[in-house]
Amino acid sequence: MRISTIIAGRQFFIERNKDPFVKKKSGGGYYNGANHIVLNENLRDEEELEVLVHESMHAHDMELPEDFVEMLAKDITQALWDYGYRVEHPELRI
Ligand SMILES: [Zn+2]
Repeated sequence: MRISTIIAGRQFFIERNKDPFVKKKSGGGYYNGANHIVLNENLRDEEELEVLVHESMHAHDMELPEDFVEMLAKDITQALWDYGYRVEHPELRI
């Protein structure tokens, strides 16, 4: 199942996948430059949130430095998690 979203004014699709390539990128996900963010389905919820934030930042601006993306994604994820945000799409949990 794919979720549609808008990042930087463009439509993107977010999808969970077993693709082994995903494990090699950003701890479990990647932005493939084709308006498509892929998340490793084996990630824990908090890890998945961080990867989604991280890859969304890349989708917004591919020129952002990796260390900046990592730091900000980690901090934003921590704030969202501590505030109580959780996955709300159980149908994605196959
Ligand atoms: Zn990255």
